[in-house]
Amino acid sequence: MRAKTDVLIVGGGIIGLMTARELLGRGRKVIVVDKGPAGLEASHAAGGILSAIPPWDAPPAIVRLARLSLNIYPSLAEELLDETGIDSELWSCGLLYLATGADQAWPSDFLPVGAKVMDSAELEEMEPAVSIPKGRHLLLPAIAQINNRWLLEALVASIGMRGGLVLDNTEVSGLKRNKRRVCGVATSAGPLEAEQVLIAAGAWTDRLLDTLGVQIGVYPLLGQMISFQADPGFLNRIIVAGEQYLVPRQDGTILVGSTVENVGFDKKTTASAAKMLSEFAAKRLPALAGQRAVEHWCGLRPGSTSDVPFIGELRPFQGLYLASGHNHLGIALATGTARLMAEMMCGSELSLPADDFALSRAA
Ligand SMILES: Cc1cc2nc3c(=O)[nH]c(=O)nc-3n(C[C@H](O)[C@H](O)[C@H](O)COP(=O)(O)OP(=O)(O)OC[C@H]3O[C@@H](n4cnc5c(N)ncnc54)[C@H](O)[C@@H]3O)c2cc1C
Repeated sequence: MRAKTDVLIVGGGIIGLMTARELLGRGRKVIVVDKGPAGLEASHAAGGILSAIPPWDAPPAIVRLARLSLNIYPSLAEELLDETGIDSELWSCGLLYLATGADQAWPSDFLPVGAKVMDSAELEEMEPAVSIPKGRHLLLPAIAQINNRWLLEALVASIGMRGGLVLDNTEVSGLKRNKRRVCGVATSAGPLEAEQVLIAAGAWTDRLLDTLGVQIGVYPLLGQMISFQADPGFLNRIIVAGEQYLVPRQDGTILVGSTVENVGFDKKTTASAAKMLSEFAAKRLPALAGQRAVEHWCGLRPGSTSDVPFIGELRPFQGLYLASGHNHLGIALATGTARLMAEMMCGSELSLPADDFALSRAA
């Protein structure tokens, strides 16, 4: 196979697909290449919470990127529904932090709009299925979620409808160069030529960059989740208690997450994680005690030695770009990342300062 395009994107996760759609909207020809079926790695495994947890610990660059992303999500969800008929269920359901002790204190200087500290009695009326411990809890009503699996399906469909190409089961083994200018990639299905190449390979980014003798400190961080089936309306808000959380979907599915495990590329689920997550779910939602989880899955987050993802050109190479290292926030930051990346690749005015995300931060 020998094909030529304006932009070739390595990685069909949320970051690669979102950027592909954004570039197609700017008139560029785009091919996305994925080693598996696109959209089935970390982005498929996620809970779809559109916020840092907790939001008050996020560095300023993340706060700015998250704000840009959240401003884009409502119009994106509508456009995708119109174009593809797929509803990605963007839902401002709110998020409730349960106090983990009677003396739990919440930050007062930085809290999102509408944040409210509430006692257990008030919350029991709002969320009758939840076992709410004694204490002062924090409600963040503006926090939203999206059904990341529907979102990925909608993006793939939209890319096709906009004239883009998503090549599944096509592994990129290296980059083709003319001196410092990157002019394509070598794949398991043959070479592909492009004016610009974007690496959005998630947890596998450093493996690919290794072929250029570059490392940016992105590594796999395994996350496991389980889910239960309940009736719609059984749980109405995202619940966070300590390290674990519950995410209700609109069809009544309850996602329970998640683990954070540094086990390399060993992507597998474990009985011990399922037990821990089931016990957490039963403790907070007693009606689930004794119920079997309907699904147990895992994914490799693109963990990073930096708090902030890398979004930018990979110098001294020319025509080579990188968007990776979104760790536990890739869904929340995807729309802003795609906007910024597309602006960089098209030489447009940037929505955010590029320096915050520059690759020069990498060792
Ligand atoms: C359990 C769990 C829960 C999470 N919950 C949330 C959440 O609630 N909110 C949130 O914002 N984020 C969440 N995240 C994080 C989020 O899922 C990730 O940050 C995001 O999906 C990263 O997207 P990506 O496109 O960079 O990576 P991926 O989705 O992993 O995509 C990378 C793609 O690159 C492809 N690829 C890699 N190497 C090659 C190659 N050589 N050739 C071709 N293709 C290649 C892979 O096959 C893959 O499809 C969660 C993650 C996990 C695991």
